[in-house]
Formats: sequence, structure tokens, C-alpha cells
Amino acid sequence: MNLSSPDTNPECLFCRIVAGDLPADVVRRDERVVAFRDIDPKAPVHVLVVPVAHYPDVAALAAADKDLLADVVRVGAEVAADECDGQFRLLFNTGRAAGQSVFHVHGHVLGGRSMQWPPG
Ligand code: 5GP
Ligand code: ZN
Repeated sequence: MNLSSPDTNPECLFCRIVAGDLPADVVRRDERVVAFRDIDPKAPVHVLVVPVAHYPDVAALAAADKDLLADVVRVGAEVAADECDGQFRLLFNTGRAAGQSVFHVHGHVLGGRSMQWPPG
């Protein structure tokens, strides 16, 4: 099985944001990971953390490059340390039934308010 991913997908919204072809409020960027504010925030802090490389979801990323997945988690924690005392919810909607609407893996970093459990 070939687990590699094409680096970018010109049809993909988040590839276009990563490339700078579409505007976004970027809060962190390095060679492998970009973090930018969600356009429709669900909490005072709502930042999306994405790998530069295109993988459709977190399962594909975990199968292909666990170090890159760890980088995504680390950057999410760094954003939360900066913006909400390091207390945050990190979630990856995976599949349409789970609420995924953009098929370039992204961790939602949510913080800055009390969270309910279980989520809806
Ligand atoms: P999903 O539903 O796939 O888990 O999350 C996709 C997220 O991307 C949503 O929270 C949505 O508000 C956000 N989003 C969709 N389009 C854009 C956009 O053009 N720019 C930014 N910054 N966020 C977007
Ligand atoms: Zn993409």
C-alpha cells in the first residue's frame, strides 16, 4: 500500500491557504506545519493546525507520518500555551458523519472558555 501523499492538491482549500493563495490569519508557521484562525470560531480561541503536506484526514496522516502528526499536536499545544493557559480541546473531525467538511487534515484547537462533555 502506498501511504505517501501528494504534497499539495490545487483543489484543496487548506493547501491554498498554506500556499498563501488565499488569505488567513496565520498565528504560527514553520516548514511543516501552519496554524491559522478558524473563519467561524466556536470558542474565544479557535485555531486550525494543519500540516503543509496534504493528507485527507488524521487517520491517513497517522499511517503515513507519525512524526508530522506529533508536530501538529505540538504546535497546537504551543498555540494554547500562548493564548489560553495551555488548556485546550484538540479534535480532528474524521469523516463527514463526524463533521469533517474540509478534507485536508486539521486539528481544531479550542480554548478560552469552559467546554461541555460529551460534545454534540
Ligand atoms: P471541519 O468541519 O472539516 O472539521 O472543519 C473545517 C473548519 O474550517 C470549520 O471550522 C470552518 O469554519 C473552517 N473554515 C472553512 N473555510 C475556511 C476558510 O476559508 N478559512 C478559515 N480560516 N477557516 C475555514
Ligand atoms: Zn490540502
